[in-house]
Amino acid sequence: MKKHIAVLGATGSIGKSSLDIISRDPENFEVVLLTSRSSRGKLEELSKQFPTAVCVLADDPNGKEKLLTAIAETKPDITINGISGAAGLEPSLAAIQAGSHLALANKETIVMAGDLAIRSAKEKNVNIIPVDSEHSAIFHLLRFFAEQDRKSENVSEIILTASGGPFRNLSLKDMEKVTVKDALAHPTWNMGQKITIDSASMANKGLEIIEACVFFNMPSEKIKVVIHPQSIVHSMIRLCNGVIYAQLSKPDMRHPIHDAIYYPVTTKSTLEPISFDSLTLEFSKPDPDKFPMLKYAWEAARRGALYPCAYNAANETAVTAFLEQKIGFLDIPKITEHVLQADWSASSLDLETVLRADADARRRAKSLLP
Ligand code: NAD
Ligand code: MG
Repeated sequence: MKKHIAVLGATGSIGKSSLDIISRDPENFEVVLLTSRSSRGKLEELSKQFPTAVCVLADDPNGKEKLLTAIAETKPDITINGISGAAGLEPSLAAIQAGSHLALANKETIVMAGDLAIRSAKEKNVNIIPVDSEHSAIFHLLRFFAEQDRKSENVSEIILTASGGPFRNLSLKDMEKVTVKDALAHPTWNMGQKITIDSASMANKGLEIIEACVFFNMPSEKIKVVIHPQSIVHSMIRLCNGVIYAQLSKPDMRHPIHDAIYYPVTTKSTLEPISFDSLTLEFSKPDPDKFPMLKYAWEAARRGALYPCAYNAANETAVTAFLEQKIGFLDIPKITEHVLQADWSASSLDLETVLRADADARRRAKSLLP
């Protein structure tokens, strides 16, 4: 039986890679739903390529409802969530409610409401398989080495690798002057605008620190970050015996997407493997003064409650303002720090509370814009 598959954010970078992987195996997959917020032309192209799919363009005020209804009605077996930003949260929850496995690129789902998503997935007996390359690496490493107990005391550290982005070698002083164009020039990954800016500020790694804590149920001090400019080692786990296990592949999101949609089976892939013929792997420590978004993320992860949600909302608002050239690059961490100074503790983390905190953090961040 073919697996019915939905691709949310089909016109984006993750969407494109997902459809490439799915197209390679028409015997096993059938696309039932394709969605996007804009890019009508691109979505129309895709609807010709995947004629069995329902296509939803969520570009009007009712877009969200149309999208959530389509997820429920098309009843996918697997949903790939490649929507960018907080807008991905409710579609993730809708997919879980529809009984669909979730191949999750939208890290904001876990950052904002990870416990809720994980609990709902357990209730519905569906899997959430991370597509974020670092978390995919850790997920599969833990699966292979600690299948019986993911919270195993034997895992002493999760080590996330980070490319360091385009400003890795710039001084803090030079970072004050960088432009949108500079920040969008990522050295190794070709991704959507928001995550590319986040890679330059290392807020992307910050979100991933939180994602790793929640997803793998690890305290924040056990999540480490190392700069690895080649983006070949996708992440590592250190066991209590001191040994480190790493996952390596080319920096190509089609690898983690492949692994997520075939999970739990390891299937032959037609993607080009890495060759060791001329391979240099470098590692270094991130500079905390240049990349304060890391420190704020560790702190938000340690505090839990609505702090991660506030971190994400403040950063998303600041990144939008930076892209619109309203603020400078170094204002992004300043705004985030300021928003995080409010009280984000909470007794319950239901969807309504999370969405209210998200809106509140955005309001606070906007009040700091010129
Ligand atoms: P992108 O900007 O290239 O694509 C985003 C897609 O989501 C588009 O199809 C867009 O139309 C749709 N979308 C945007 N806002 C929407 C809204 N409000 N409602 C419905 N649809 C909406 O982004 P991307 O780089 O593909 O990233 C998508 C997600 O995957 C992000 O959460 C990102 O952090 C994560 N991710 C991406 C990569 C990557 O290599 N691109 C790697 C790891 C994780
Ligand atoms: Mg990542």
